[in-house]
Amino acid sequence: MSIFSTMNILLASNNDHKREEFTRILKGHSLFLPKDLGIEFDFEEDKESFTENALGKAKALAGQAPQGYVVLADDSGLCVDALDGRPGVRTARYGLETFGRMLESDERNAFLLKNLAHLEDIEERTAQFVCALALIVDVNRQFTICEAVDGYIAKESYGQGGFGYDPVFICKEAGKTMAELTEEEKDKVSHRGKATAHLITLLGEIS
Ligand code: IMP
Repeated sequence: MSIFSTMNILLASNNDHKREEFTRILKGHSLFLPKDLGIEFDFEEDKESFTENALGKAKALAGQAPQGYVVLADDSGLCVDALDGRPGVRTARYGLETFGRMLESDERNAFLLKNLAHLEDIEERTAQFVCALALIVDVNRQFTICEAVDGYIAKESYGQGGFGYDPVFICKEAGKTMAELTEEEKDKVSHRGKATAHLITLLGEIS
């Protein structure tokens, strides 16, 4: 493989939004979800770090990947300083204990805003969006990357773009919520965009 070769990348996820973002950022490579290849994939994200979860997901899928595919996994989450870094690795399940069911994105965002409603000053609402990536080329070539973007939790939702927590996460660098950014802008400043920039370098070096 060289910097110019197209790789078949099997993404250890069932999330179409993630596929969309990786397809945009990893131009020139072919991205597949397990369901595209008829593979059933489910992984319990039960580790204490994003990197361990990402590597766990990638390893869980690697055994089922067809010849000629590398496996990529992403584990992301929101770490809110005023919540001592929560929801962190439990970001997808935020609100589950309180409501007894998995919440929809807009419900999770509303729950987060309610939990921070007492914090008037934006400087008290600081947070990081984190993205860990794990790439498995083969059993002896496994790589992890973890990146983050600094920001604030907005006081209400803004913007229509993106997915998940994007309407309530103000990216410090952009001065807007991630849902107010164009796709191209989000890819430049987001946790996933930054982590994937390192991945692109790595893919170019794999031979
Ligand atoms: P996971 O990485 O699939 O475990 O996702 C963790 C949670 O973060 C889910 O609720 C996702 O919707 C959310 N999430 C992941 N990436 C993003 C993003 O780029 N923007 C907003 N929310 C995200």
